[in-house]
Amino acid sequence: MDSLATLDYPAVGHGLRYEFGIFDQVIRDGWQLERTDRWLRAGNPWEVRRYDIDHRVGFGGHVEHLRGNDGHLSVRWIPARVVRGVPWDVPVAGHGTRTTNFLRLWSAVADEELDLDAFQVGEYWRAVDEKIRSENLTKILYPNDSSPAGKQLRLEQQYFFVACALADCIRLLLMRGAITEFADQFAIQLNDTHPALAVVELMRLLVDVHHLGWHQAWELVTRSLAYTNHTLLPEALETWPLPLFAAVLPRHLEIIYEINRRFLDEVRAKFPGDEERIARMSLIGEDGEKYVRMAHLATVASHHVNGVAVLHSRLLRETVLRDFAEMWPEKFTNVTNGVTPRRFMRLANPNLSTLITDAIGEGWLRDLEQLRGLEKFADDAAFVDQWRAVKAQNKADLATWLQVSGGHVVDPTSLYDAQCKRIHEYKRQHLNLLHCVALFERLRNGLDDGVARTFIFAGKAAPSYVAAKLIIRLAHGLAHAIAEHPVACDRLQIVFVPDFTVKVAQRIYPAADLSEQISTAGMEASGTGNMKFALNGALTIGTLDGANVEIRDAVGEENFFLFGLTAEEVTARKAEGYDPRIEIVRDPELRNVLALLETGEISGGDPHLFTPLVRQLQERDPFLVLADFRAYVECQHRVDVDWRDQRAWVRSSILNVARCGQFSSDRAVREYAKTIWKV
Ligand SMILES: *Cc1c(COP(=O)(O)O)cnc(C)c1O
Repeated sequence: MDSLATLDYPAVGHGLRYEFGIFDQVIRDGWQLERTDRWLRAGNPWEVRRYDIDHRVGFGGHVEHLRGNDGHLSVRWIPARVVRGVPWDVPVAGHGTRTTNFLRLWSAVADEELDLDAFQVGEYWRAVDEKIRSENLTKILYPNDSSPAGKQLRLEQQYFFVACALADCIRLLLMRGAITEFADQFAIQLNDTHPALAVVELMRLLVDVHHLGWHQAWELVTRSLAYTNHTLLPEALETWPLPLFAAVLPRHLEIIYEINRRFLDEVRAKFPGDEERIARMSLIGEDGEKYVRMAHLATVASHHVNGVAVLHSRLLRETVLRDFAEMWPEKFTNVTNGVTPRRFMRLANPNLSTLITDAIGEGWLRDLEQLRGLEKFADDAAFVDQWRAVKAQNKADLATWLQVSGGHVVDPTSLYDAQCKRIHEYKRQHLNLLHCVALFERLRNGLDDGVARTFIFAGKAAPSYVAAKLIIRLAHGLAHAIAEHPVACDRLQIVFVPDFTVKVAQRIYPAADLSEQISTAGMEASGTGNMKFALNGALTIGTLDGANVEIRDAVGEENFFLFGLTAEEVTARKAEGYDPRIEIVRDPELRNVLALLETGEISGGDPHLFTPLVRQLQERDPFLVLADFRAYVECQHRVDVDWRDQRAWVRSSILNVARCGQFSSDRAVREYAKTIWKV
């Protein structure tokens, strides 16, 4: 949004105005607890309710097919329930321009405030019942990888979201043009599949409400929509069971069947006799219960489909959407993600920003490629000293904040090694923790020759994700055991910063020396934390995954700590029947590390606390943590060696920043505008 405004694109971002956003994380006895995020409790000055706009959104009910006197079929959806969507606008001011766009957040309100008939006969509860049910729609955001709780509510939220957004586009269009101009006036970018119902809702509006023919309507839909995929993880590819879908959106299901019928005819024409392909590509999945496949729906209706890093876009074409890429190769493209330098450099890191501006002027804030001008200072001794002083100051500032906010006393001269992101097995915080255990064990045995490190972890686990919550518990158990050990505590420290949010992130990125980007290759779509750390002068230790690949290409392999299996090797290892036990047999240190997890020494005396985690690693290890363990430990050793040469380290830090200009969201937004929206 910041880049769209800064580059003067007339754009609106649509979303839901949840009364309670993603939960606040608190830690009790090393466990994550979730607390309601009451972000509106003191009011919010950065929003304006637009009383002049209001759209009605239907749910449930039934469909009537009528033949008029002229013989024409018309369709009427009679919803069982209607909710009103009202917008709240949050202005987003561009940097160095007069353009201010807005983020338009939709809030659900009851169609009629209270049922007066019921109220007058004294049924107070029934009178407000419908109001409560309606307003629950935007009450709370469910973490997207959470339990099935509220599956129907989540489908209703998605429909409410796109129904409001599209009704608003058409309201704007009809103020000065005709419905047939829709695709000339609007480009719609589907941010993942959560708004994929827009395909169906726009068809419904054009055909049922504005009475266009199917063919013309489909042309308008497919000329205006494009889809960005954000993950290849199977559990994140959305599907909706047919019975649920039919109950909530009966007319939309009919339209999906019609889109599917025409689409599968097209597939049959192109691949005659290939019924397996038809079944794989259908918008309706039929293994077990029937369900709607939202990624297929989005792909069929979009003129462009993109992944968010070069590797991810390739894997998208080769795996999840392979059949679609074979059918329409020209639809598929890549737009590597980016981050805004205004927030993640200028606002988060004023010390570094001032130093950069003093060296190369302030043009970099609007044209991040200008950071390239820093390359010539990488060997300038005075500049290197200043760069180092800035990092030292940022580290001292973080140390102060950690002490004030959490009572942590950290050594600001130690290497700050940070892994801050959602807690998930594919991101492999547990690989990092196994390395910490190995270092702890070496220190206890008087073997260590490593440098002093402070490991900084932060991130939330989805409330129902038991394994991720146990990883958080492990970080705390290990932090405690190390702090209690008389020798280890001087060399090694683990800090888990609770409640990772953008504001917390802005404190950590500028202070990090080492950025942990260690996901199982092939699983991280892009990552953006990797870019934020690098642009603040951290060096990356990482796998060839997501945008790490492009970051390493940009900064140079000598300025990046690479380890681990490639995406191809991961696939091959799994295909040949990966057995983690073999890794354990081969590696005595790994064996020791896993054994230590079940001694009770880092779990407050309970030897079984981490058993589920250890068993998962020993028996299945679906994210190949053990397969990458040795390479990771050896790579961390190279980090230690390089850290001891501070001049060379700072040189690499400067070159990382100088060469990461391409990871600006300005570049990403320009690519969307040029190659996808054609504006
Ligand atoms: C950038 C950012 C992320 C994304 O981090 P990844 O390392 O790319 O997973 C998550 N949360 C916050 C608060 C961020 O600022």
